Amino acid sequence: MRTKLAAGNWKMNGTGRDLGVLTELARRHTQPGCEILICPPVSLLHRAAQTVQGTSISVGGQDCHAARSGAHTGDISAEMLADAGARSVILGHSERREDHAETNAHVRDKVRAALAAGLVSIVCVGETKDQRLANETLSVVADQLAGSIPDQVTGDTLVVAYEPIWAIGTGLVPTVEQIAEVHGFIRAQLHDRFGAQTGSQIRLLYGGSVKPDNAAAIFAVPDVDGALVGGASLSADDFSPIVSALEGSA
Ligand code: PEP
Repeated sequence: MRTKLAAGNWKMNGTGRDLGVLTELARRHTQPGCEILICPPVSLLHRAAQTVQGTSISVGGQDCHAARSGAHTGDISAEMLADAGARSVILGHSERREDHAETNAHVRDKVRAALAAGLVSIVCVGETKDQRLANETLSVVADQLAGSIPDQVTGDTLVVAYEPIWAIGTGLVPTVEQIAEVHGFIRAQLHDRFGAQTGSQIRLLYGGSVKPDNAAAIFAVPDVDGALVGGASLSADDFSPIVSALEGSA
């Protein structure tokens, strides 16, 4: 049985006054039927961790460096994220792959660093619009999975987020059939590589314009174990109904 996960990615949004969103989420979901994770910008991470202490919510990072420490101005290590209170880290988000030219190999090294620091890695994969139109979605996702995930992961240390790039922040959402196809494919790839037990334990999130009004339909898709939510995680009024939809899903 996989624990469902509602994860919020605040991206480069939020200052101290937005920490109230966490307090409000904790107030509304005292005994949630799923895991709730918020990944604020790193400037807020420590305060966010303190804010959610003793509640049902955990916090995570949005990226980490592959090295433990060193001359990497502006970067942050997995150990530093953990020290600030993170339990998880998003890795290989398409905005990092695009803005910072992150390759699958970079992402794989970051996952290794996250493992060493005791963090759960949420590894993002997904195709561009052109790749979907060219019928390349499954091969792109297969390459990303093969290249971005090291052999050492387990069902407790890895979450995979399928995020079609054309659906992120656009209001466009794949059909439930399209989501089912890719999630089924990812599950089969994980089984092939890690065996049936670990392959069945790794959680698969869908990400890309998840909103209160489409969440229930997405969560009804087989092999969708939750969501990675960008814009709608910035407000408790938007994120809370998504959490509730996940709690209510079979
Ligand atoms: C994301 O950035 O991971 C994301 C899914 O964003 P949004 O929900 O805003 O599409």
